[in-house]
Amino acid sequence: AAESTDIVIIGSGGAGLSSAITATEKGAKVIVLEKMAYFGGNSNRSEGEMNAAGTKQQKAHGITDDTPERFAADTIRGGHGLNDPALVKALTENAASAEEWLLDLGAHFCHRMGRGGGQTRARGHGPCDGSPVGIEIMRVLGERADKDHIDMRLNNRVTKILMKNGKVSGVQVKTPKGMETINAKAVILATGGFGANHKMVEKYRPELKGFSTTNHPGATGDGIILAQQVGAGLTDIEQIQIHPTVIKKNGALISESMRARGGFLLNKNGKRFTNELLTRDVVSANELKQPGGIAYLVIDNSIYSKNKMAQNYTAEKLMTKCDTIADVAKLIGVDEKVVQASFDQYHKAFDNKKDDLFGRPEMLIRMDQAPYFVAEVTPGIHHTMGGVKIDPQAEVLTPEKKPIPGLFAAGEVTGGVHGGNRIGGNAVADIITFGCISANSALKYIGQ
Ligand code: ADP
Repeated sequence: AAESTDIVIIGSGGAGLSSAITATEKGAKVIVLEKMAYFGGNSNRSEGEMNAAGTKQQKAHGITDDTPERFAADTIRGGHGLNDPALVKALTENAASAEEWLLDLGAHFCHRMGRGGGQTRARGHGPCDGSPVGIEIMRVLGERADKDHIDMRLNNRVTKILMKNGKVSGVQVKTPKGMETINAKAVILATGGFGANHKMVEKYRPELKGFSTTNHPGATGDGIILAQQVGAGLTDIEQIQIHPTVIKKNGALISESMRARGGFLLNKNGKRFTNELLTRDVVSANELKQPGGIAYLVIDNSIYSKNKMAQNYTAEKLMTKCDTIADVAKLIGVDEKVVQASFDQYHKAFDNKKDDLFGRPEMLIRMDQAPYFVAEVTPGIHHTMGGVKIDPQAEVLTPEKKPIPGLFAAGEVTGGVHGGNRIGGNAVADIITFGCISANSALKYIGQ
């Protein structure tokens, strides 16, 4: 006989586990199905931060004028107005409580200094020592899932969502023992994006052929296919984000926060070429116009010495230590004078609080503390903004915007939150916020 549960959650990343924990704590019986041999998906890889407006930690840092409305305006401007405003409203109004929920679960988060690209206030939150946000989130969620005895099954790939009388009735899953059916009153799709599925990326964006990807191998877009098979609509599926600071050979990501804290980009000629705090799509486009389509991300020791993530980059040989500006020039392969002039320009911009060359709005540090650390970077496939159509309650919708009863989705599998370009720090905000929302919505289907 087939097994039965209240809610099946497909995927064990940040969205899936936030959803599972929320539903479990409200008394639902939950099964989490994860196709990989590990949990955490792309969420494990999140280097950045969690955006939230109006948090206690922001206030403690003197940022008292950030609001969900300002956060929403930044998100929509960054997304070129393509975002679904109702989804952005749900995100920005609930992100602060989602962040506090993580703190209550035991996340060691501080407010992060520095604004990410496209943001008018510093609203990133993450580990206080600057280590990657994803590892801390998955630590906290994983520990809570264990404590709550959540039934999480690795190596279990969902192959079909089952429907009965127009309602979701469960899933078909390929387990190590063979195919099984699990009956459920609700199903939550939290399968992540398709940034590791080169064929699917190419189908929607032929010009991205050959780009490296920052995604974990399980980011293959299964959830989009599963949802389409039961009639779901898609939103902005061709909106794929490339990130400007990716290491070509292995797709490793250098976090945007390196620039937010004060780092800058030089081209092969040793010159800055952009306001480094523009959105990812614009910085990537500017980078692709440079010789070889590459750039050198440079930080100084005042960023490096306080940042665990940067220290990891040198340990993993993604960044190279340069004792002097002359060494930076040598690494790039240009005359020292050119690189010195680039540094001088930046010092002046810092001193005058005005970047005459590119109008960068904030230079948090002067970039004058040797040694320097440099990474050769290029744009890479990072995030798939489009996906399954949902409403602000995380209900999956048909192309005609009718809810599919009992089917919910949260996280990177969905479309509409980020529009045409995702602001750094909004993915984590998205997965936790909508993870919790999806559980609360699904609870209605189990009589709670
Ligand atoms: P998000 O950030 O939206 O939570 P993640 O990429 O962190 O997304 O997590 C999604 C998880 O879903 C990954 O661990 C991935 O392996 C898993 N997954 C994807 N497709 C399936 C599937 N068909 N069955 C089970 N798990 C899946």
